[in-house]
Amino acid sequence: MSNIVAIVGRPNVGKSTLFNRLVGERKAIMDDQSGVTRDRHYGRAEWIGKYFTVIDTGGYVSGSEDVFEEAIREQVQLAMEEANVILFMVDVTEGIHPLDEEFARVVRKSKKPVYVIANKADTSERVHWAGSFYALGIGDSEIFPVSSQSGAGTGELLDAVVSHFEEEGEEFPDQGVPRIAIVGRPNVGKSSLVNVLLGTDRNIVTDVAGTTRDSIDTRYKAFGKEFILTDTAGLRRKAKVREDNIEFYSTLRTIKAIEDADVCIIMLDATRGIEAQDASIIGLAERNRKGMVILVNKWDLIENKETNTARDFERAIRERIAPIDYTPIIFISAHTKQRVFQAVEMAIQVYNNRSHKIPTSQVNDKLLPEIDKFQPPAKKGRYIKIKYAMQLPTHTPSFAFFCNLPQYLDKSYERFLENQIRKHFGFEGVPINVFFRKK
Ligand code: GDP
Ligand code: GDP
Repeated sequence: MSNIVAIVGRPNVGKSTLFNRLVGERKAIMDDQSGVTRDRHYGRAEWIGKYFTVIDTGGYVSGSEDVFEEAIREQVQLAMEEANVILFMVDVTEGIHPLDEEFARVVRKSKKPVYVIANKADTSERVHWAGSFYALGIGDSEIFPVSSQSGAGTGELLDAVVSHFEEEGEEFPDQGVPRIAIVGRPNVGKSSLVNVLLGTDRNIVTDVAGTTRDSIDTRYKAFGKEFILTDTAGLRRKAKVREDNIEFYSTLRTIKAIEDADVCIIMLDATRGIEAQDASIIGLAERNRKGMVILVNKWDLIENKETNTARDFERAIRERIAPIDYTPIIFISAHTKQRVFQAVEMAIQVYNNRSHKIPTSQVNDKLLPEIDKFQPPAKKGRYIKIKYAMQLPTHTPSFAFFCNLPQYLDKSYERFLENQIRKHFGFEGVPINVFFRKK
C-alpha cells in the first residue's frame, strides 16, 4: 500500500497553495480568476524520511453549473478512494461556508482518517478561529490551523499525516516504469481515449465549452505490462481573457510531457486531417528522440469509407511529416472503441522496440553486405571504407559505423544506413541515431 494524501475542499481555500508547499514545486497551476477548473494533481512529498504522494483535487467552476458540481464530486470521491489520509481544507477567514457543509457530507462517509485544515491562519488571532469548524462534525478528527502561504502549522499537520504511514516509501516509485504520454491539439479526443482505457470518469469529459483540465499521470496495466499514462488534456478557458496564458501553460505541459515520456501517443482528428500544430508536436517528439504512435481519432465520423480512405489519409500524413517514415499510424475511435486497445498494444510494442539491443555480430552480418552493395561515394578522390558497425549502449537506439574518413559521409548515406537498420531490425516507431566514427 502506498502512502497517499488527498487535499479536498471548495475552491479558493488554498488547496493548491498547500499542494505546492508540500510538493515544493510549482506543479499546480494557480489562477485567482474564477472559471478555471482543474483535475487532480499528483506530486511527491517527504516528511521526516517518509515519502508520500499528494493529490490536489482542484476546484469547481464558480457558480452552480450542475454538470461540474456533479463531476467534481466524483473526482473527490475518487481521490478519497485512492488516498489513505484526507485533508479537508476550509478557510478560517470565512467561517463555515455552505459548500464546506456539502463537502463535509461527502467526506464524512470516508472510512479513512480525515483532518480538517483551517487554512489562512496567518496570525495567532486567526489560529483561535479554527475551533469554530468543530461544528462541521467531522468524526473524531482534529483541526489543524495552518497558513499554507507561510508554512506555519504544516509541521504539526505532517507529523500527524505521516503517523499513518508504516512504510518509508521511495522517493521516485515510478522509476523504470515506461511512460506513455497522450498528446495532441485540444479536442482531438485525448481525455476520451484515457477514459476508455481507464474505464472510469477520471477525467472530466464534457461538451460544455470551457472545461479545463490539467495533465495527470495514471499507473495503468495492460497486456501484462505496467506503465504510466500521462494525459495532457488541453487546458481551455471559459473566459476569453488571458487565453494565451492558458495556451502557454498548455504548450508547456505538452512539451514537458513529451520530454518525460518514453513513448508519445500523438492524436489527430480525422475530421480535420493533419494540421501545422500536429506536425509541430510530431517534430517535437522526434527531436526529443521519443517513441511515437500516431492515432487518427474520430474515425467513426468519416462516412462512406472506401478501401482506400485510410490509405490515402495515411499517405497525406506521411507526406506532411517526411522524412519521418517509421511511425505507425492507427485509425481509431474513442467513441466506438474501435482499435483502441490495438493502439495501446502498439505503444507498448514501440516501447519495447526502443530498448531493443542487437548483438554486434548480427549488426555486421546484416549491414556489411548492404554497405558492400551500395558503397559510400568517393570524396575528393578518396575511398570511404566502413569497416564495422555496432549498436551503442545508449537509451535511444544508436548505431556507430567505424570508417577511415567519417567526416566525408553525408546525410543521404546516413539515411541509407538508417533504412537498412530498419529493414533488418525493425525499430518501428522509434527514432534512431547513426554516428560515424574514425577507425
Ligand atoms: P484552491 O482553489 O483551494 O486550490 O486555492 P488556492 O491555493 O488557489 O488559493 C486561493 C487563494 O488563497 C490564493 O489567492 C492564495 O494566495 C490564497 N491563500 C492560500 N493559502 C493562504 C494562506 O495560508 N493565507 C492567506 N492569507 N492566503 C492564502
Ligand atoms: P481533448 O481535448 O483532446 O481531451 O478531447 P476530448 O476527449 O475532450 O474530446 C473532444 C470532443 O471530441 C468531445 O466532444 C468528445 O466527445 C469528442 N470525441 C472524442 N473522441 C471521439 C471519437 O472517437 N468520435 C467522435 N465522434 N467524437 C469524439
